[in-house]
Amino acid sequence: MNKIEQTLSIIKPDAVERNLTENIKNMFEKNNLVIKDQKKIHITKDEAADFYKVHQSKPFYNDLCNYLSSGPIVVMILEGENAISENRKLMGATDPKKADKNTIRKTYGISIDKNSVHGSDSIENAEKEIKFFFKD
Ligand code: UDP
Ligand code: MG
Repeated sequence: MNKIEQTLSIIKPDAVERNLTENIKNMFEKNNLVIKDQKKIHITKDEAADFYKVHQSKPFYNDLCNYLSSGPIVVMILEGENAISENRKLMGATDPKKADKNTIRKTYGISIDKNSVHGSDSIENAEKEIKFFFKD
């Protein structure tokens, strides 16, 4: 069943630094994901730790928090039919080496940690993550 949803997307520091923001936004728009709100920000390590707290028991957690706070990121609210799963499909697998061709991570990702984009993985997390960056 098709449903209009909103999801949170982040263009991560490796992609912002390589000036890939416009290319990635074009990929969203070509795939019927409309950018409803967006901002370029540079978060602190504490904010990254809060955002990624679901991963706090993982061995990569500390590196992940250092990385997400290492440079500017672009956070966006994407909207469209089945936006959460459509965005995850467009992003591709976490490890760019395993991602399908034409996905964002296959096209631009450098490694499993520098994989260019984040996307919410469920309705609950999309709501939480949108609130995290766009509380009004
Ligand atoms: N990550 C990592 N090493 C790993 C697994 C994940 O550095 O072995 C990083 C990677 O940047 C990933 C993020 O942690 O995007 C969150 O992991 P998750 O499993 O939620 O992947 P995603 O939902 O981003 O595909
Ligand atoms: Mg995830």
